[in-house]
Amino acid sequence: MSVVITNRCINCGACEWECPNMAIFPGDPHPVVAQDLCTECYGFFGESQCIVVCPVDAILVIPETTETLERRFVRTNPNAKIQDHWIWRRIGRLR
Ligand code: SF4
Ligand code: SF4
Repeated sequence: MSVVITNRCINCGACEWECPNMAIFPGDPHPVVAQDLCTECYGFFGESQCIVVCPVDAILVIPETTETLERRFVRTNPNAKIQDHWIWRRIGRLR
């Protein structure tokens, strides 16, 4: 697992548009993160975009190793160039 959306969510939908892995799907009462797609934005951005845009701090992190995140990036984005690893850092509250 990487990030999860909690009941603090007000279902504004902002995070769904920001996810580079298209890992966030609409849901009721709130969107759901596909754990096999989320890389905490590793490979694409320096920090988790959904956490950056969430207006109510509704997203928690369930930490995984960077090796796991990198393997997931390569598996789900086989044709994408991975960003330098040192750019990335973990943000957000841990579950
Ligand atoms: S951390 Fe990044 S990859 Fe994971 S759900 Fe949020 S925006 Fe998508
Ligand atoms: S950005 Fe935050 S409040 Fe908006 S849908 Fe995503 S988790 Fe919910």
